[in-house]
Amino acid sequence: MSKDDSFSRLAGPGASAAAPAYPLRRVDSQIGFIGLGHMGTAMAANLVAAGHQVIAYVRRPDQMNKLVALGLKPTTDITKLFGCEILISMLPDDSAVRDLVLGREELGIAGLASGLKRGAIHLSMSTISTHAASDLAKEHARHGQGYVAAPVFGNSDAAKARQLFIVAAGAPADVERCQPLFDGIGQRTFVVGTDPGHANLVKLLGNMMTATTLEVLGEVVAVALKRGLDPRAFLDIMRSTMFGGRAHKIYGDKIVSQSYAPGFVMPLVLKDVRLALAEAESVSAPMPSVDVVQDRLITGIARGYGDLDWSALGLIAAEAAGLDVHRPAGRD
Ligand code: NAD
Repeated sequence: MSKDDSFSRLAGPGASAAAPAYPLRRVDSQIGFIGLGHMGTAMAANLVAAGHQVIAYVRRPDQMNKLVALGLKPTTDITKLFGCEILISMLPDDSAVRDLVLGREELGIAGLASGLKRGAIHLSMSTISTHAASDLAKEHARHGQGYVAAPVFGNSDAAKARQLFIVAAGAPADVERCQPLFDGIGQRTFVVGTDPGHANLVKLLGNMMTATTLEVLGEVVAVALKRGLDPRAFLDIMRSTMFGGRAHKIYGDKIVSQSYAPGFVMPLVLKDVRLALAEAESVSAPMPSVDVVQDRLITGIARGYGDLDWSALGLIAAEAAGLDVHRPAGRD
């Protein structure tokens, strides 16, 4: 595919400031990208910074200038992406990805499965259900195309810093073709086999570990505050002893400083909680602690916190403890 002059190889403001420590391999053809939100914009910008040519589908023309400034080639015509060898999607949920792959005849939206050429790969990086992953993989296979599931761990800050962890599954040759893109987006890729659903199950269960961690962080910080104990000093001890992991490090600070700026917003977290509970119920395995988080999220959304990051589970815990909570930092 010929090089398009409108592509920039310079890192834009949404891309990682740190240059990769090793030369990155490139995919020679244009990469398609759909889902230019908190995560997708940073990921696509980093692909450009790594030397890839990225054509991005957006629904609204007013999104285009920002993407051009990042070196992407935006279009409102999805069919312009149909010639891509690899197309990445980073969409909110099952129904968005299903609509994209299967199309919506009544809305005149052409589906990726019928539009992409044989041999193309749909690299599906959204957090979706295992059922959706299996159905979509079958639909692409029916059209002679590959489907690689590769959800990510890490928030939008990690995406900007090219620090995501990628969990990938699919046919080995297809995963191998996607590896240069993983290298441009993340710090490490874990390949978990050939069943795409397994990658999504790892992602959903991992997110439940983080969600329940945020819930308990919010609870203990509320108790500390009410008992007159400095929550920062308490967290420092915990993180230097039994809880030195990333979730406690990153989100402990956010909860103590009441920093809930939009990131992984509550409705998307609730979507993951529901998906994880459904996966668990399908094998009769209860997850009662996740049920608690589900109720907290519903409470938070009912109180108008739907645009806040999941660190706002700390805000909900503080309110439940009757603390006089200040206006959320994310809304200033
Ligand atoms: P987001 O809502 O910010 O972005 C989704 C984007 O998809 C939006 O720009 C939206 O306009 C676009 N979109 C929706 N339907 C579309 C369609 N039919 N055609 C084209 N574009 C469409 O969400 P996000 O936070 O970037 O999350 C994306 C995915 O990544 C979700 O599955 C989420 O669970 C997962 N995830 C998010 C985080 C995080 O911290 N935000 C971290 C890891 C994984």
